[in-house]
Amino acid sequence: MDCIFCKIVEGSIPANKIYEDDTVLAFHDIQPAAPVHALIIPKKHIAAMKDVREEDLPLIADIHRAAQKVAKELGVDESGYRLLNNCGKNAGQVVFHIHYHLLGGAKLGPLNH
Ligand code: AMP
Ligand code: ZN
Repeated sequence: MDCIFCKIVEGSIPANKIYEDDTVLAFHDIQPAAPVHALIIPKKHIAAMKDVREEDLPLIADIHRAAQKVAKELGVDESGYRLLNNCGKNAGQVVFHIHYHLLGGAKLGPLNH
């Protein structure tokens, strides 16, 4: 499949990995939008949040569990962070393998645009 994040999961494209388990992978965003900017993805290819099925919901919990670990690993668990998913064009989704951005390391702007 021609999916950049599937290729990262397979190991055919490198990534700066932070955390990995059976179902989830976390790595640093290549174009950080904050001092800490990680991406957390399920290893299973799901294009977008709108495509998450009932049987996939445990993966969403896995992502939240991984986000706690990543935040701790990157030292932002106490200072605070934002976990963000873009779904579809109007949200600015450009990679169609579902992913959650974990942003922190500085005071983040309000979500008012
Ligand atoms: P989104 O706009 O929510 O689809 O975000 C896609 C994110 O993936 C952007 O923040 C990109 O900088 C990031 N990205 C794209 N390709 C890579 C890659 N090979 N390694 C790490 N991050 C990437
Ligand atoms: Zn994929």
